[in-house]
Amino acid sequence: MSQRSYLDWNATAPMRGEAKAAFVEALAIAGNPSSVHAEGRAARRLVETAREEVAALVGAQAGDVFFTSSGTEANMLALTPAIEIAGERRPRSRLLLSAIEHVSVRSSGRFSREAIEEMPVGADGRLDLGALAAAIGKVSRVLVSLMLANNETGVIEPVAEAAAIVHAAGGVLHVDAVQAVGRIACDIKTLGADLLTLSAHKIGGAKGVGALVRGRDDIHFPEPLIRGGGQERGLRAGTENVAGIASFGAAAAAARSNRQAEAAHMTALRQRLEAGLQAIAPRAVIFADAPPAERLPNTTLFALEGMKAETAVIGFDLEGVAVSSGAACSSGKVQPSHVLAAMGVPAPLRRGAVRVSLGWSSTEADIEKFLGAWRKLASALSKEQRGIAA
Ligand code: PLP
Repeated sequence: MSQRSYLDWNATAPMRGEAKAAFVEALAIAGNPSSVHAEGRAARRLVETAREEVAALVGAQAGDVFFTSSGTEANMLALTPAIEIAGERRPRSRLLLSAIEHVSVRSSGRFSREAIEEMPVGADGRLDLGALAAAIGKVSRVLVSLMLANNETGVIEPVAEAAAIVHAAGGVLHVDAVQAVGRIACDIKTLGADLLTLSAHKIGGAKGVGALVRGRDDIHFPEPLIRGGGQERGLRAGTENVAGIASFGAAAAAARSNRQAEAAHMTALRQRLEAGLQAIAPRAVIFADAPPAERLPNTTLFALEGMKAETAVIGFDLEGVAVSSGAACSSGKVQPSHVLAAMGVPAPLRRGAVRVSLGWSSTEADIEKFLGAWRKLASALSKEQRGIAA
């Protein structure tokens, strides 16, 4: 394939060199981390080192990190009425979610559908804190799930403010930080999160590894998600994915030391991208591009009226540029964006939303290639629209 530009980092990031090296080194270790012999202990060391690195990335204790098979599984583990906190064993009665959560949270974990309540966001994509306070005042023992940054728009949510409201009402706060970690500051204590979800492949580790992190050690899950051999301190049975976990640790260490430089790099590239995008098509709308909304440094979600996202994504692909339409996480199916709907974006514009997401190894050449492709697509669209009008 000729030089392609991969600009779909919110779907997944390429593996970091450090993570690949850790993965390959781990493959050479034969032991099972639960075995007591030297080979087993070597595998255990890799898992525990990775636990420390993942904990350090979010300012947590290693003993509060539980590895899972994905961010999705970590969300599933967190969202249960059976969470015990500070000795409170009565089940959580309700699950409050923002209207823009990832599908793995929207599917509500182990809560019944009747126990869920969705909270609105404003036109800027940020949670309506007044609505949270009102909803939380009506029920006791709630679990609230709020993402730190949205996977489609990149909008950063007011998590610390939400935490204050949730805790004042005796609730528990789960934060899906899958898209945010490694891109913006993500300290579990500063955020006030009781539980935090992470995924290795978004920060340059292997696919198929995640973690649920506790913000305090008096949170317990009496019902494991997977029963069996008692791995991950009884929370998640099954022999650990040692190589994947080792790559997660290495990626976490790299993300932690490079975060600020990488964020500055992505911000500069994105400024060029957005300026070029609107210079070529002044009617193009970039979602949540004005204060008070703050976005991740790497994400641009844009639309042009009359443009179909699926056609645009194929057009970019033919020009050698990988982008996605809204949330491409799941199936390759184009579904109307629940995020833009929640922000009150009209349907015709929603249908045309294309997401461009950058990463640490994105280059100016990638941006120029994207803009070259956009020039062609926007001009073809405008000819087509003139044809229809004539
Ligand atoms: N949460 C968010 C915000 C995501 O964007 C994703 C994946 O795109 C997930 C959770 C799921 O993570 P994983 O792919 O590791 O299951």
